Amino acid sequence: MEKKNIDWANLSFGYIPTEQRYVTNFKGGAWDEGGLTSDNTVVISECAGVLQYAQTCFEGLKAYTTEDGSIVCFRPDLNASRLDDSCKRLEMPTLPEGRFLEAIDEVVKANAAYVPPFGSGASLYIRPYMFGSSAVIGVKPAEEFQFRVFCTPVGPYFKGGVKPLTIKVSDFDRAAPNGTGHIKAGLNYAMSLHAIVTAHDEGFDENMYLDAATRTKVEETGGANFIFVTKDGKVVTPKSDTILPSITRRSLMYVAKEYLGLEVEERDVYLSELKDFAECGLCGTAAVISPVGRVYDHGTMIEFPSGMEAMGPITQKLYDTLTGIQMGRIEAPEGWIRKIL
Ligand SMILES: *Cc1c(COP(=O)(O)O)cnc(C)c1O
Repeated sequence: MEKKNIDWANLSFGYIPTEQRYVTNFKGGAWDEGGLTSDNTVVISECAGVLQYAQTCFEGLKAYTTEDGSIVCFRPDLNASRLDDSCKRLEMPTLPEGRFLEAIDEVVKANAAYVPPFGSGASLYIRPYMFGSSAVIGVKPAEEFQFRVFCTPVGPYFKGGVKPLTIKVSDFDRAAPNGTGHIKAGLNYAMSLHAIVTAHDEGFDENMYLDAATRTKVEETGGANFIFVTKDGKVVTPKSDTILPSITRRSLMYVAKEYLGLEVEERDVYLSELKDFAECGLCGTAAVISPVGRVYDHGTMIEFPSGMEAMGPITQKLYDTLTGIQMGRIEAPEGWIRKIL
């Protein structure tokens, strides 16, 4: 198979339509057979549930080429089960077992020419999503839904080297107790846009959201979970029912414990203890870990000892180990890597 003529190293994180995407429709209480299509547009009622009441959720994962030339993706079964959780909370039908993974496989195989080569640092970003497609005007769930998976090649996250981020403690809240913070719903992002544009206008890279109930505990950013490293080398991540359970973060905590022999803690993390941490990072599929150099909290700049030049040493080890597992250089735990081609 001949690869597309793309400047892989200089791709950004943007949408480039590829040749095929997967579509299946839910109607009359059942999903149809589904399959690939070359049509990259969606035609739905002007009154569709997704357009009126934001009935939609999504996932995000990557396919990439490993050292031995295989095309794989990382723990897609966890994306499948998280999508299930999102669908249930949003009164949307779940996909029958196995359909999610089949759809991913089909889309990646059909667009193999767009999977960046090993060593380019680029990858194929895969976006599965579901939305209410039938008309609703009274507030209620749609009756018809579409599940779709498209993919787009994306460039290396850290172009020209890793640069630690400066983030601010946001005055906006991301998720309410007993709300929808733990699911990957479009609505969580709609209301984060004003907060992120505001943070960018003020010169910050990201927002640190606090728990909405007490505003004393660290939750996450708009699209990534936090990990912290204590001065005695413990890896700590916030425990909360209102953060999105990042697959990257869960994998890093496992790697910290089982591969690096570090102590790990999932617990309440208070804003007041940030100044005591040695390192901080943001975890998500896009970057694996982005180091955070400092946090601005209403007039006070909290600077982590790891500084503004590089990742902290433990963050770097976590990053190297997890990316080593993903790329096939380090043996993966059972079931973490799904070979597609
Ligand atoms: C998707 C997402 C993450 C990262 O999850 P991964 O599974 O690691 O990609 C973190 N926080 C939020 C709010 C997200 O939507």
